[in-house]
Amino acid sequence: MKRREFVGGLALAAGASACGKQPAAIDTGADRSTETFKWNMVTSWPPRLPGLGVGADNLAERVEKASNSRLKIKVYAGGELVPALDVFDAVSRGTAQMGHDAAYYHRGKVPAAQYFTAVPFGLNANEMNAWLYYGGGLELWREYYQQFNLVPFPAGQTGVQMAGWFNKEINSIEDLAGLKMRIPGLGGEVMQRAGVTQITVPAAEIFTSLQTGALDAAEWVGPYNDVTLGLHKAARYYYYPGWHEPGPTLELIVNKDAWDTLPDDLKAIVELACQASNLDMQAEYNYGNAMALQQLKNDPNVELRPLPDDVLELLHKLSNEVIDELSARDEWSARIQKSYSDFLDVSAQNQLISEQAYLNARSAFP
Ligand code: CA
Repeated sequence: MKRREFVGGLALAAGASACGKQPAAIDTGADRSTETFKWNMVTSWPPRLPGLGVGADNLAERVEKASNSRLKIKVYAGGELVPALDVFDAVSRGTAQMGHDAAYYHRGKVPAAQYFTAVPFGLNANEMNAWLYYGGGLELWREYYQQFNLVPFPAGQTGVQMAGWFNKEINSIEDLAGLKMRIPGLGGEVMQRAGVTQITVPAAEIFTSLQTGALDAAEWVGPYNDVTLGLHKAARYYYYPGWHEPGPTLELIVNKDAWDTLPDDLKAIVELACQASNLDMQAEYNYGNAMALQQLKNDPNVELRPLPDDVLELLHKLSNEVIDELSARDEWSARIQKSYSDFLDVSAQNQLISEQAYLNARSAFP
């Protein structure tokens, strides 16, 4: 009985270089049901952060339970093993076998990956899952990540976010000029074009930055997570909707060399655990956001407001410009954009007469 244990990236790298090929990828028909694996998962999240961080922990626990401890995964919060925003590179080079983060954190290196997190005025949570699982999105994602030695899985979903916290009122387009705002991804690029100064700040620093005036505004997620960070105590105006992140997907990425060492049943368990996490995190956010919104509505220091129509109209126009320019300079973005927007076009028509029509009807008659 050959027992194969990979403890950490060093053992993995040593094993791979000693063999010079992927030994376990060859199906010899041998019984592999007693092989055990110890893996590490690096994440971008503060420890036990509700939603994102807990979601990564739950994923690891589900895999361990479902595999009868044959695949054990130790989860590291952002900064514990590698810096919070270095997850992609760390898993790509094999420092850890797995990572949990948001694909748009790496837009400098993989601009097209932003389509697999969120696109301004793009697909919502349900539509993202439709596109990824049934519309060819996940196949494109897998193909795109091959060059980085990574296998990606959708593994979490926050649902539509909030436009963010502002220390001043936004009554017109002019009010955006000169604002210092924390907003990542394509949304950040759009805001920059609207006159905002985009600043990148990790989650743990948003509260202090708003308090000290280093930031005038910041988006993080939505009521559930924002209350956890205390953002309602650092800014007064809470704007919606989350035009920039309509249905952000979180990713689980697995180092391809490590993935190839897993027997088929453990691969299936990882895939199923990711699907479970994708569903479970969205449910947690839908519940948690509803509860936290009640708290915010009762808080005399918080004003909940919609962004003015002319501001949204400008952001929509600028979003189209940003997306068109990205496609013009990056082949992968053009290819993924085509698949994404082809589905968005037909899905929008369906949403109009289904979810959107229903929600309008539900709220029309109190
Ligand atoms: Ca966000």
